[in-house]
Amino acid sequence: MNPVVKAKPHILFLYSDTGGGHRAAAEAIIEAIHLEFPGQVTTEMVDIFLRYAPPPINLAPRIYPHLSQMPNVWEIGYHASDGRRRTRFAYTMIWPYVRNSLERLIANHPASLIVSVHQMINSPVSRTALAHGIPFVTVVTDLVSTHAAWYCTTADLVVVPTQAAFKRGLEMRMPGERMQVIGQPVADRFTLPPGDRIALRERLGWQQDLPTALLVGGGEGMGPLAGTALAINEARLPVQLVIVAGRNKQLRQQMEQHPWNIPVHIYGFVTEMPDFMRAADVLISKAGPGTISEAFIAGLPVILYSKMPGQEDGNVDFVVQEGAGVWAPRPQLAVDTLRTWLNFPETRRAAAINALRLARPDASRRIARLLVEKASL
Ligand code: UDP
Repeated sequence: MNPVVKAKPHILFLYSDTGGGHRAAAEAIIEAIHLEFPGQVTTEMVDIFLRYAPPPINLAPRIYPHLSQMPNVWEIGYHASDGRRRTRFAYTMIWPYVRNSLERLIANHPASLIVSVHQMINSPVSRTALAHGIPFVTVVTDLVSTHAAWYCTTADLVVVPTQAAFKRGLEMRMPGERMQVIGQPVADRFTLPPGDRIALRERLGWQQDLPTALLVGGGEGMGPLAGTALAINEARLPVQLVIVAGRNKQLRQQMEQHPWNIPVHIYGFVTEMPDFMRAADVLISKAGPGTISEAFIAGLPVILYSKMPGQEDGNVDFVVQEGAGVWAPRPQLAVDTLRTWLNFPETRRAAAINALRLARPDASRRIARLLVEKASL
C-alpha cells in the first residue's frame, strides 16, 4: 500500500464540470474536511470525465452547456435513462470501455476513500473500488427528483439532501441503512453570519436604497435569464438588478450592450456568491440545487425562471410547496411575482422565513465528519 495512504487518510473526490454544482459540492466538502480535521487528512479532486473517460464520454463537460440550451433533448435523454434496469443495462454495456481507464485512476490516485458527487459514474467506479477494497461513497447533489444512476447498491454509503431523495433511493432498492439524509453541501462562506449589508453593498458598488434582485442561471448562465431580466427592465420595477451570467460569455455581452431603464450590475462568473446573496433581497434563478440551497441559507426568497427538465423538476415543486418561492417559467410571471413582493413586503418576508427553515448550513461539516470516519476505518 502507498505510504502516503498509511500516514494520513487520503480522500479522492470525483466530479465533473457539467454545470457548476458538482464542483461546488466537492469543494464545499473538502473545505469542511480541512476545517474540521486540520492537517489530519489529505484530499484530491479529479474531473473524472475530462481525465479518465475514454472518448466520446470525455466530451460530456464540453457538450453539457450546449445540451442544457436544448431542454427538450435533455428531457428525452433523462427520462429514457432514468430507471433501475435501464441504468444497469447501460453500465453493463459501458463497462468494457471504461474499466481500463478506471484501473488507471486507482493506480494514479491511491486513496483510502473514493467519493463521487456525479450521478453518471457511480456504478463503474463502485465496481472498481470494490475490486480494490477501497470504500466508496456517493454524495447526491440533486435535491429531490434524483436520477436512478445516483443509487449504486454496492456503494458503502449514499448521502442524500432530502427525504424525497432518500425515498427515491429506497425505490431504486438502495438499502435504507446505507443512506443518510444530511443536506446539500455548500461552501463555508455561505454559513457565516449575515454581516453588514450596507458595507457589503458599498464594497460591491450597489445602490443602498433599492431592493435588489440577484439573477443567476447556474454556473453556465443557463435558461432564459436574459428574457426575465429584460421583462423586469421593461416593467420599470423599482429595483436594481444584479445579473450573473456565469461562464456564458454571449449572455454577458448581450446584457452589457442592452440599454437599461433601471440600475443594473452585470457580472460573468463570480467567486463572491455568498456576499452577493447576503447583499440581495430576492433571488431569480434556474432551479439548480446548489444555488437554491445557498439561497435557503441566506434567507432569500426565490423566483425560479427555468429548470433542467427531469433532474430539476422536483426542485421546483420543493421550493413552491414549502412556500420558499414561486415557479415563473414565463418572464411576465417573474415580473408579477417581483411586483407583488415589492408591493406587499410581508409576502416576501414569509417566503424568506420559509427559505431559512429549509436551510441546512451544517451539511458540509456533517458530511465531512462521516467521510473522514469512513476513510479512517
Ligand atoms: N456559481 C458561482 N458563480 C457564478 C455562478 C454560479 O459560484 O458566477 C455557483 C453557485 O453559487 C452554485 C453553483 O455555481 O454553487 C451552481 O450550481 P447549481 O446546482 O445551482 O447549478 P448548475 O450550474 O450545477 O446547473
